[in-house]
Amino acid sequence: MRPRNVFRVALVSMGACFITTLFAQEPALAVQRIHQGAIVIDTHTDTPMKLINGQFDLSERHEAPGSRVDFPRLREGNVDAVFFALFTGQRKRIPEYYRESYDLANQMLDSILVSVHRNKETAGLATCSSEIIRLSDQGKTAVCIGMENGFPLGKDIARVREFYDKGVRYITLCHSANNDICDSSTDPQGPENNGLSSFGQQVVAEMNRLGMIIDVSHISDKAFFDVIAASKAPVIASHSSVRSVCNGHRNMSDTMIRALSRHGGVIQICILGAYVAPEDTTSENFHKLEELRLKYNNWQYKDDEERKAAWRAYDSIETCFPPVLPTIAQAVDHIDHVVKLVGIDYTGIGSDFDGGGGLADCVDVADFPKITAELVKRGYNQEEINKIWGGNFLRVFREVEKTAGHE
Ligand SMILES: [Zn+2]
Repeated sequence: MRPRNVFRVALVSMGACFITTLFAQEPALAVQRIHQGAIVIDTHTDTPMKLINGQFDLSERHEAPGSRVDFPRLREGNVDAVFFALFTGQRKRIPEYYRESYDLANQMLDSILVSVHRNKETAGLATCSSEIIRLSDQGKTAVCIGMENGFPLGKDIARVREFYDKGVRYITLCHSANNDICDSSTDPQGPENNGLSSFGQQVVAEMNRLGMIIDVSHISDKAFFDVIAASKAPVIASHSSVRSVCNGHRNMSDTMIRALSRHGGVIQICILGAYVAPEDTTSENFHKLEELRLKYNNWQYKDDEERKAAWRAYDSIETCFPPVLPTIAQAVDHIDHVVKLVGIDYTGIGSDFDGGGGLADCVDVADFPKITAELVKRGYNQEEINKIWGGNFLRVFREVEKTAGHE
């Protein structure tokens, strides 16, 4: 049992009295112990894109903003589990691009497995909820795999099983444009499937059957309600924020959050600036990124070279013209809102690091204890913080496994 787990046991057995005494003595130490007492899970990062771009070694410590996740910083931030997303941007649905997105997803998957294997002394692949706990108890970082955008499935339902067998445990049904599964919340052309398509209905049923978590981040409101009606298991929003705190189609409305919670699911607050607080549309960063988005046709790349060039340009804009980002306090406003709306059991955090995520005072996973400090400042106790950092997500993961009949 590593030190943090000793803390966990100690905190449970000694109760609130211990925390109160500790606080009077040393607030920073108390926050550190509360953070270490939680199972900390980040349900969304786009780090695999870096892995396939080559020369990125997860075992080395890097610096933000160029990189926000690696094994040393996951340990510094006391992160127990991280989801690496196999992200493919939505492109025209033609055979060539279906094939390329499938190949790209597999390339990312393989690179994750290689990285985990190379770091097997300190990390392991987790393909079920109990493996996250087991690896945490061994003092190792649990690496979980999600897929962001169901584009690589093409129209082939057998691929859901294929990716499940390779270790993928959630699928974000679409990304910023519509696909064969459902409509996106941000497709410039508007909806085309009237929510979830008939193929999407099959995908939901197959994911329920296998014990794969359905991720509703990015999907349209109508598609979300269709998923809630179709799914036998609770679902997650792996990285979504709250529309009534920061308006935008990509964030979830109060009606959606109520429906999600009634269905037993969880909204993992996304700490990407534009989803946390309205963007400053007069900034240099905003204009440069808009130019880039238009240049690369709303991130619909012609080929691999263009995708790599776009990400290089993106990194350079973020470095040369850094945006004025919102703060942890503004992100925690989203958590507060969900807690007031539906209670403590339905929210968590999905950083979107290495895919645009990052706050002024939370630049990488090593900064996660600062979020805990803000939660403590607002009066959240150990039990509530445990739920936010991982407990709520783990409950959903277990429910999904139970629905599929797993032990
Ligand atoms: Zn995303």
